[in-house]
Amino acid sequence: MQQPDAQDTIQISSAAMQLRCGFRWLRFEPGLETAYRVEQFRGGLKFLRVNLAIVAASLLVVFQIEYVVMPAIGAALPGYARFGVMTPMLALALALTFMRRAEIWYPRLIATLMPIALMAVAWLGLWAWGLGESRLFVRLIIATIAAYFLVGLPFRSALVAGLIAIGFYVAAAIAVDMPALVLTNFFCMLLVANLMCAAGAYNMEHTRRTAWLESRLLDELAQRDGLTGIYNRRRFDEHLARVWQQCVREHRPVTLLFADIDHFKDFNDRYGHQAGDAALKAVADVLAGVARRPLDLAARYGGEEFAVILFDTAQENAARIAEQTLEEVRKLNIPHAGSTAAPMLTISIGVACVVPMARRSPSGLVQLADQALYAAKDAGRNQSRLLQAEYEHMQTGYFRRHMLKGDGQ
Ligand code: GH3
Ligand code: MG
Ligand code: MG
Repeated sequence: MQQPDAQDTIQISSAAMQLRCGFRWLRFEPGLETAYRVEQFRGGLKFLRVNLAIVAASLLVVFQIEYVVMPAIGAALPGYARFGVMTPMLALALALTFMRRAEIWYPRLIATLMPIALMAVAWLGLWAWGLGESRLFVRLIIATIAAYFLVGLPFRSALVAGLIAIGFYVAAAIAVDMPALVLTNFFCMLLVANLMCAAGAYNMEHTRRTAWLESRLLDELAQRDGLTGIYNRRRFDEHLARVWQQCVREHRPVTLLFADIDHFKDFNDRYGHQAGDAALKAVADVLAGVARRPLDLAARYGGEEFAVILFDTAQENAARIAEQTLEEVRKLNIPHAGSTAAPMLTISIGVACVVPMARRSPSGLVQLADQALYAAKDAGRNQSRLLQAEYEHMQTGYFRRHMLKGDGQ
């Protein structure tokens, strides 16, 4: 099994890692597992309801057939045993699928109910066998198939339910003195039924899990920049709109860092585009390290420009983070002989910090950060500039570079 190396971890998503490492026991790492289960449950809810209805209808048909074909059993079986166990269990399961947070409660309930249901069916088969009617055993096989394929149990829970039923059947059969040869026959049939169902259910779930991981990976790749592996412009725009709304609701400040590599054209001309690409990746990794909290995000804005969204970050912190980022890039120590700013590769950063208002759009913040970046460039590069407050009077879309000459932090 190939393990991803440390360098990959920023750029490789959890879905890619899971695909790479495999999931032989049909379980993902905890974060992915929860997301998978919730999505699968919600996505398959309609089918689950139909399946439960099919099981309920089939039960009624089976009861009726047995009543006609095995009248002795029909007469001996009290009404509460026929309709008082399975039907209420199914009705409860079906009702639960309509409840809030059903994705949490349904799997728990069904994983508890199914072994009980299988044991009840096993007990009924043995009771009928005691009355000389062994055909009721078939019910246990049918119930096993339903447990694996129809009631929404994941493979592992279905297997546990099947094994509990086998154990119960054998123990109960010994308790009612079933002859060894007869018991061996029923046991083998039950075992074979479970083996076949388990193999089919395992294959189905493995295929379903692989397809889910692949589609998740595809979604993630569509949000990533191909060269650097950090988020792309599309994801940046979506995330900024989301964070903006959240900051409007909660009256919190949002900060935008715009970073641009200094004299990068000269760097490419001097050291070649491959070295340029490697430098872009190194700078991208530094910026990805800045966006540490769940709502922060670092993206390649375009070319050699990067943007970092920092949720709920006030200007003092933003200025400090920008200075630290400049230092981190300098510490990469990538030689850049053609730069007027420093002997190594450097970046300039424009910082904009605002508390958003409902009537404004995030494009004003982008404009402010862009202006701050040009102020940093004008002031000599390899430094940061911070803009705020002007926001109230800003005319979005109107670029006032001339007004920024001499603006300080
Ligand atoms: P300034 O300090 O004012 O930002 O100057 P600059 O040279 O960095 O800016 P300019 O906009 O003139 O040049 C940007 C360069 O970035 C030009 C382009 O070749 C380079 N670049 C953009 N995308 C890539 C890329 O994906 N790989 C490489 N190697 N270079 C890129
Ligand atoms: Mg540029
Ligand atoms: Mg540049």
